[in-house]
Amino acid sequence: MTNEHSRPTGALIVADRVHKSYTAGSSTVDILHDVSLTVSEGEVCAIMGPSGSGKSTLMYCLAGLERPTGGDVALLGRSLAQCSRKQLAELRRAELGFVFQSYNLMPTLSVFENVALPFRLRGERVDRARIEEALSSVGLSGRGSSQPSSMSGGEQQRVAIARVLAQRPRIVFADEPTGALDSRSGRLVLSELRRIGGAPGQCVLIVTHDPAVAASCDRVVFMRDGRLVDQISNPTTASVASLLAALEARSETAVEEAA
Ligand code: ADP
Ligand code: MG
Repeated sequence: MTNEHSRPTGALIVADRVHKSYTAGSSTVDILHDVSLTVSEGEVCAIMGPSGSGKSTLMYCLAGLERPTGGDVALLGRSLAQCSRKQLAELRRAELGFVFQSYNLMPTLSVFENVALPFRLRGERVDRARIEEALSSVGLSGRGSSQPSSMSGGEQQRVAIARVLAQRPRIVFADEPTGALDSRSGRLVLSELRRIGGAPGQCVLIVTHDPAVAASCDRVVFMRDGRLVDQISNPTTASVASLLAALEARSETAVEEAA
């Protein structure tokens, strides 16, 4: 199964000097400054940093949802700069999973149909067993006919995770996935993400504000003002919290926001 071309070094995400700026009228704002980052198979990596430091923008660039204005991203050995819009969409559908703080469930569809939606959008046969298995792994077996609107936030996020699990993506991007959840649902969502990330040939990247969430990851990288400024391997809640506090004290964006 190993394809030397698609997986040269076990590095699944390689960001090489990713730069992102936005232009409005005559002014240009630089959001990301030459960010380089590698995430390897079997790894769960957290991104932390003050609000406005560029975490979401980085994740969107890494996931091919935004085009960097400089540098490049390679996913599974493929340069995104060299992918057409169509190839990017195909790569996202086939290999990537997304979990956001807002669950992005379709309110008019049942739980089962929400998890089945990616299959239907591709015009594929719906794999019932795979959907049931995904629902059961997030503790929602037998809930397929429920409506999302009748569920708690934690349950809805678990549906969103089941939708990702059923697709068996190789890379999962999660932006504040536990931000709106009670601690029990948060732990369940996190343990599923860890299970995905720990599997051979797969990895997970999580943006989080929560030092306890970050401490359960293999590595934490820290951003400030659009730059990667530090990282901790084998993090603990205490080591993460103290580094984050130091960054927040020094962040330009945080100071501006507070002013
Ligand atoms: P974080 O996720 O760390 O809170 P973001 O990546 O959302 O930070 O935003 C980083 C900075 O980029 C912020 O100052 C934000 O206002 C700015 N930004 C994000 N998206 C855009 C955009 N589409 N146009 C202009 N500025 C943007
Ligand atoms: Mg964000």
